[in-house]
Amino acid sequence: MSISSEIERLNKELPSTVKLVAVSKFNPSEAIMEAYQAGQRVFGESRPQELLQKVQELPRDIQWHFIGHLQTNKLKMVLPYAALIHSVDSERLLMEINKYAVKNNLKVKCLLELFVAQEETKQGFSNEELMELMEKLQQEPLQGVEICGLMGMASFVEDEQQIRGEFAALKETFDQVREKYISTHPNFNELSMGMSGDYRIAVEMGSTMVRIGTTIFGARNYSK
Ligand SMILES: *Cc1c(COP(=O)(O)O)cnc(C)c1O
Repeated sequence: MSISSEIERLNKELPSTVKLVAVSKFNPSEAIMEAYQAGQRVFGESRPQELLQKVQELPRDIQWHFIGHLQTNKLKMVLPYAALIHSVDSERLLMEINKYAVKNNLKVKCLLELFVAQEETKQGFSNEELMELMEKLQQEPLQGVEICGLMGMASFVEDEQQIRGEFAALKETFDQVREKYISTHPNFNELSMGMSGDYRIAVEMGSTMVRIGTTIFGARNYSK
């Protein structure tokens, strides 16, 4: 299948309440342009240098989402250009983003990354850490960031029941936080979950944003 026909197919398949983030990391600008010609405007990148280069080369009306682990020394390469950061995985990173944003007169839209998978390598907040952070933000609101929801990744396993359970846990936490804090975080509306291998389950379980790379662009070439 071509890139454009995959975009069209996904647009037909996904409910209108679910936003498609085309994950273009490691793919060249020509591939992004093919998706762009098919109407896609939201793209996900995971490496600051690559994002910066693509921002310079590609149309201005693209919305760039940053989905990778973000180091605090790379904020200036990402924050001015990203419409949404999916991967805020620690309080320290959130505070650094806020500091940069206030200094540069930005309001940075962020999702907090929640850890639900079993793999030990996964980044993100535990449920408990998330709740503590939300409480703290209630006491001391941040001027430079807007918390727009949660992001999470399920384990890379075949077992569909396990994936379903992890997405269900994410959705439950999302609903709890939303209920408790929506008055002070009125834009807490996004639940970013689902990738090429598991987006159908994620959508069933209440995702509002899927991050799909391989299905659209084919296997990534990591040597580039
Ligand atoms: C790479 C990546 C994706 C896309 O994964 P595919 O399996 O290629 O769809 C989604 N989310 C995050 C956080 C990623 O790093």
